Amino acid sequence: MPVRWGLIGATVIAREWMIDAIREAGGEIVSVMSTSTERGKAYAEEFGIPLAVTNLSNLFASGVDAVYVSTTNERHRAEVVAAAEAGIHVLCEKPLATSLSDARDMVLACRKAGVVMGTNHHLRNSATHIASRDIIRSGRIGRPLSARVTHAGYLPEHLQTWRLKDPTAGAGAILDLTVHDADLLRFILEDEPETISTLTQNSGMAAEGIEDAALSLIRFRSGLLAHLFDGFTTRYARTGVEVHGTDGSLFASDCMPQRPSGTLTLRTADGDEEIVLDHKNYYVRGVRAFHDAMAGKGAPPSTGEDGLISLAVALAALESAKTGQTSAISTGLDS
Ligand code: NDP
Repeated sequence: MPVRWGLIGATVIAREWMIDAIREAGGEIVSVMSTSTERGKAYAEEFGIPLAVTNLSNLFASGVDAVYVSTTNERHRAEVVAAAEAGIHVLCEKPLATSLSDARDMVLACRKAGVVMGTNHHLRNSATHIASRDIIRSGRIGRPLSARVTHAGYLPEHLQTWRLKDPTAGAGAILDLTVHDADLLRFILEDEPETISTLTQNSGMAAEGIEDAALSLIRFRSGLLAHLFDGFTTRYARTGVEVHGTDGSLFASDCMPQRPSGTLTLRTADGDEEIVLDHKNYYVRGVRAFHDAMAGKGAPPSTGEDGLISLAVALAALESAKTGQTSAISTGLDS
């Protein structure tokens, strides 16, 4: 029996990636919830989804095993907690929420209900980043000392909506992009971020008071220092992740878009080695792993707890930018 999915949110991310990913991973989409009857109906028709509803109870009553939550971020808490209380597994978009207390409630509700909770940090499913994690784990670069992430691109026109202007929905480059970097570095380095210092920029693309780019420095538990540049405003920047260790360095390039991409070079005393990568769709890989977790095999690539930590990093970055001080990173939840 295929996993039966309900979509909470008639959104761009579901349209561009997740509807196809769920189907390719063997899932069936049985219903979609939109707060607008007309938009929901049109969306359902466009994607061949049998049922469009306008509230959660009707979505849950459509016999779904799992929901994919991709509404704006301030809506995630209520939707995830309700799904958990209905005994339904949840894959939720990042950032999990706009406050730590909301994200904690979501994680605790899923734990209490015994449902699988995943955070859709798709970059964990990238062949480039998986290879980096494996090389670091194997010890080939020695002890990692520093890392650099460039996650700067150009926010496409059709996404220049709430992200640039609505603080209640979690606008800004930090909640959109820094949150991904935080999760990615934890994944690659297998280390935990402890403090963050951030400077923000408004180049005129975002509304006044909202950052359209940010530069952050993170100190990890091991002592590793990372710097991150995240932005919506540069059309021609090359994205990248570098990790420098005592015995080698890793250079991943063009590796942050949503489509499978990236090259990876390992530089050691033996010279440069191009790592051969088997690129696969990140979202399909993520949904497959989520299905496995529902069947009791492992955990989603990024769990609810992982999403809580990446949100804690992003919120600490915002606090640092506001106060001009370094912020401590804490989820306020014992693991
Ligand atoms: P959208 O802007 O497409 O949709 C967000 C909400 O806005 C929807 O739930 C919808 O409400 C409402 N909405 C959509 N279209 C309209 C419209 N024409 N008029 C009025 N309201 C509308 O969101 P995104 O797809 O850009 O992002 C959704 C979530 O996914 C966010 O949490 C974001 O951070 C995350 N995301 C994650 C990515 C990843 O790769 N992991 C990439 C992109 C986004 P309703 O559903 O009630 O109709």
